[in-house]
Amino acid sequence: MEERKRILIVEDEKNIVDILRFNMNREGYDTLEAYDGETGLALARREKPDLILLDVMLPKLIGFDVCRLLRAEGDNVPVIILTAREEEEDKVLGLEIGADDYITKPFSMRELIARVRANIRRTAMSAPAPTERGMSAGGGLVIDPETNQVYKHGALVELTQREYELLTFLASHPDKVFSRVDLMEQVWNYGFVGDDARTVDVTVRRLREKIEDDPGSPAYILTRRGVGYYYSGSNSSANHRPIN
Ligand code: CA
Repeated sequence: MEERKRILIVEDEKNIVDILRFNMNREGYDTLEAYDGETGLALARREKPDLILLDVMLPKLIGFDVCRLLRAEGDNVPVIILTAREEEEDKVLGLEIGADDYITKPFSMRELIARVRANIRRTAMSAPAPTERGMSAGGGLVIDPETNQVYKHGALVELTQREYELLTFLASHPDKVFSRVDLMEQVWNYGFVGDDARTVDVTVRRLREKIEDDPGSPAYILTRRGVGYYYSGSNSSANHRPIN
């Protein structure tokens, strides 16, 4: 039997916590709760949940700082930011500091559940393929699907789960251009898009900052203007070649 996934809810409004707990439990997830940022951070460190639903405005430590601190410690747990609809800039800021996703309050529970499922499923799907070992992605970039780690010139690159999956998805289809809608469906597993295309842009930018020598003039993840993004095939001649 599959182990139940655990979701950490960090939210200071008790009625929202109650609704989230009820719905997550009904979906088959176990829940942990924190009503302030400090407790949320401590629980995330100690309990290693499978996903965090993270409010922004929290007592003691705001949600962005919780996420930022976890990422700085190398914790790549999927994080979905719960942001108020009027705080539009919070969405992008949340992604900038390493959140995987956001949802605006008041949210539809159906949409939230879809996003939780997509993020948890993606984590489970990224389990290593048994036949693959470390593979060169060219130009000093190495993807190791065994450990989900990426190395640049031998140095570990800290990627979020989403950044890792975006990179491996594009790298496994060199020179094929994917629209932002394609990527939302293929990498984010969403059947709907809306204004989420911006999520793709922000994630690409963050990924470039981490893997490119010059993010302003990228060599790996390239833009086909007006169409989408692709992984440069000139880096991929050695793609998928085991490097033992
Ligand atoms: Ca709040």
